[in-house]
Amino acid sequence: MTAPVPADSVPADSVPADSAIYDSIVIGGGIAGMSIAYELAESQRVLLVERETTLAYHTTGRSAATFLESYGNATVRALTRASRDFFGSPPDIVDAPLVSPLPLMIVGRDDQSDLVRDRYREVRPRNPAVELLDGPAAEAQNALLRPGYTAAALVDHASLEIDVHGLHQAYRRGLRRRGGDIRTSAGIVAARRERSVWVLRDAAGTERRTHAVVNAAGAWCDEVAAVMGAHPVGIRPLRRTAFMVSAPTGMPTPADRLMTLSAGEDFYVRPDGPGYLCSPADETPSEPCDARPDELEIARAIDALNEATRLAIRSIAHPWAGLRSFTADRTPVVGPDPTLDGLVWFAGQGGYGIQMAPALARAGAALAVGDPLPTDLVDAGLAAESLLPGRSAATG
Ligand SMILES: Cc1cc2nc3c(=O)[nH]c(=O)nc-3n(C[C@H](O)[C@H](O)[C@H](O)COP(=O)(O)OP(=O)(O)OC[C@H]3O[C@@H](n4cnc5c(N)ncnc54)[C@H](O)[C@@H]3O)c2cc1C
Repeated sequence: MTAPVPADSVPADSVPADSAIYDSIVIGGGIAGMSIAYELAESQRVLLVERETTLAYHTTGRSAATFLESYGNATVRALTRASRDFFGSPPDIVDAPLVSPLPLMIVGRDDQSDLVRDRYREVRPRNPAVELLDGPAAEAQNALLRPGYTAAALVDHASLEIDVHGLHQAYRRGLRRRGGDIRTSAGIVAARRERSVWVLRDAAGTERRTHAVVNAAGAWCDEVAAVMGAHPVGIRPLRRTAFMVSAPTGMPTPADRLMTLSAGEDFYVRPDGPGYLCSPADETPSEPCDARPDELEIARAIDALNEATRLAIRSIAHPWAGLRSFTADRTPVVGPDPTLDGLVWFAGQGGYGIQMAPALARAGAALAVGDPLPTDLVDAGLAAESLLPGRSAATG
């Protein structure tokens, strides 16, 4: 994260009558919930409910804010690719540029060269902006690398830094413009069916009615499903830690506008303001919770970073952690529940929920109402079958 997304309280005048029957109630005020609520509100009456007093308090406010088209499996890469136009030529809900260039360099030691070459072969056909380098060429482009560490590197020159707060705010603004409603401090604790209508009750006892419930509750998606009486899809929240370090003495600040990721995914580092944002790239299973940083993982990251880079880290600042929530096949689960009427899944955004939000929200809004995927998403390589909740690979 460049900084946590700040408090975002909801003005009292946004509160409509609770006797309304909404077309969709979206549960979760992170990037997933806000983006799909915006897309649905084009043709529906939509309410978004969030348990916390502020929006984007959990994973969305804790990301590394990058757009990496060479990251994740083929479906994730297709969703990311299909989101690029939104960031490059945003719609009128966006009032300032959302992205800036931040090339990605994936570096491998001698024993990791094959990993780098395999990744290059996999992503090159769809991403002409990638380049394969040997160690000396990588060091010439990346002043942070410790001489002799890198044997092979992949550079994705089209990677970007995302203004996550700006993106979330844009969707929020767009949702309100389309007549959508937002309620914070509205954690859903019970649900019942009255004929074709779902009645959702929050912790304060307020009941709200809707034809469809969109489950965009991040790490809590399986808990929300349980409240509604649906089968879980097996969401696994995995904790990821991050922290800040200063630029080393004598090195320009920052050395290069470049993110460095180890081929074994045991660390990454990227410039952030006057210092560097670092992560052990940890994936520790966790219950859904307000995640806290892991000191052992921080120590491990410092060792790995001091071996691979010239950062010479002795102290760190501002550690934080968030939960990246995965399905078994590490692909989001999107669309109507196969057995429970009126429940729509929008879960399992993993470590890519910001960068693929524009395309995923459009896919989710189409599948939610039984439409086919928009043709530009199909052209980008997406298939509905790889997203729908019924697929067996999702639950492993
Ligand atoms: C350290 C780190 C680095 C990352 N870096 C990147 C990156 O560079 N690029 C990228 O694209 N992604 C990145 N990610 C992943 C990205 O942040 C997530 O994929 C994304 O934020 C998930 O959004 P979400 O809306 O699904 O979840 P959340 O933001 O967690 O939102 C879910 C919301 O649902 C609410 N909720 C839960 N239960 C209920 C209930 N019963 N009633 C009402 N509300 C409820 C919660 O309070 C929460 O606010 C990173 C994640 C971490 C932790």
